[in-house]
Amino acid sequence: MAGTDPEVEVAILGAGVAGIAAARALLAAGRSCVVLEAKDRAGGRAHACTTLGAVFDHGATWLHQARENPLAAHLGAHVDHDRVRERHLHLGDRFATQEELAAYWRAHRAFEAALAAAPLAPDRAASEAAPRGGPWDATIAHWLGHQINGAALSRLSLEDYVRTALDGPNLLPQEGVGGLVARLAEGLPIRLRHPVTRLDWRGPGVVLEGPWGALRAGRAIVTVSTGVLAAGGLRFVPELPAEVRAAIAGLPMGLLTKFGFRLLRDVGLPPFHSARRAVTPAAPQPMSWIFRPFGAPIVFGFVGGDRAWDLLKEGVAATEAAARADFAAMFGEGALGEALITRWGDDPCFLGSYSHARPGHHASRALLARPLGEGRLAFAGEATHSRFAGTVAGAWLSGEAAAALAPAG
Ligand SMILES: Cc1cc2nc3c(=O)[nH]c(=O)nc-3n(C[C@H](O)[C@H](O)[C@H](O)COP(=O)(O)OP(=O)(O)OC[C@H]3O[C@@H](n4cnc5c(N)ncnc54)[C@H](O)[C@@H]3O)c2cc1C
Repeated sequence: MAGTDPEVEVAILGAGVAGIAAARALLAAGRSCVVLEAKDRAGGRAHACTTLGAVFDHGATWLHQARENPLAAHLGAHVDHDRVRERHLHLGDRFATQEELAAYWRAHRAFEAALAAAPLAPDRAASEAAPRGGPWDATIAHWLGHQINGAALSRLSLEDYVRTALDGPNLLPQEGVGGLVARLAEGLPIRLRHPVTRLDWRGPGVVLEGPWGALRAGRAIVTVSTGVLAAGGLRFVPELPAEVRAAIAGLPMGLLTKFGFRLLRDVGLPPFHSARRAVTPAAPQPMSWIFRPFGAPIVFGFVGGDRAWDLLKEGVAATEAAARADFAAMFGEGALGEALITRWGDDPCFLGSYSHARPGHHASRALLARPLGEGRLAFAGEATHSRFAGTVAGAWLSGEAAAALAPAG
């Protein structure tokens, strides 16, 4: 670095939501920046395409907690999902009655209240504060752990779980969250197909290298997932401090595999309604489904946590077959046509869907968000946001915060 002028003030590693937010904030402040992105598209885990006759978000789908969600300011046409959906619960041989559903939601609220009210110190697994033994508790634990957080409650820090818990409104953009984010990336200085494999932050500036060459910058903002950081394909020179490496290890990626199917026949559920199955001995790790968003002829669904990792290892065909069987258990055979199955878990640019803190590691997010080397190296991305971790809101806010750290000089 010595004796060479940086080509740009800030190099941003990754054109996901955090990288896009950082670039927009830097440019608005009159700073120069370049975003280096490994893939041939921007958006990262917010990515939509038109397929199966509908807009399909591969990753992020809702803007949660919309009143505090910075992306809500950029929304086009959308619905408030909570206002247009009814949630159906399948009990193994039939759907729950209104009375059973009311009991289920009462138990759900009590379960969440128990977690929220539990003492946070010392930090421990969320499962330790979870109610057990009630008729709905196994289903609720499965839902809040595997299906929402991408990992069992026993693998989640209670404090992180409570501090990052989300509420509504949950908005569904008609263009997809991916479409919204792609709009926000337009015109930014993003270099696609520019994977970074080495980041030298010895100073006075930084040097980023990849198969495409090298780039000198005043400072770097790294937004890749903690899965990518832990895998080691991006080498830091010097090595990251031990406490930062421990923070990364404390924030592993959960997995939510999303899939979509063309609907070949009406199964009786109106647009936006959802269906999930109760945990039973025959269905210990069921999936969840959303019908015909915006009237489109599709149904999309999720499998999360342990079962998602197992199915990922077994392959796309196994995941598709398992999803078809889950659906058929509720609606019979023959309703699902062509499928799209996502693979976030083994895509080397992500290696999971979003981060969670391991029990005892609730402080890891704040630690990872601290800049290093007098501000030459900063981490951003969903994993670094202590309140909206795991979401596009957290990614966006963390990108803006990292951009604001960069000194004007
Ligand atoms: C199935 C699924 C459902 C989800 N649902 C929701 C939801 O409903 N609502 C919500 O708010 N959030 C949801 N999320 C989470 C949300 O998508 C993420 O939290 C958010 O998009 C993360 O953004 P980011 O910028 O932190 O990281 P990323 O999107 O991972 O961006 C990092 C970028 O870095 C790139 N990259 C990786 N390695 C390198 C390298 N070596 N060199 C250069 N570039 C590299 C990647 O390709 C990527 O573009 C979901 C995620 C998944 C997978």
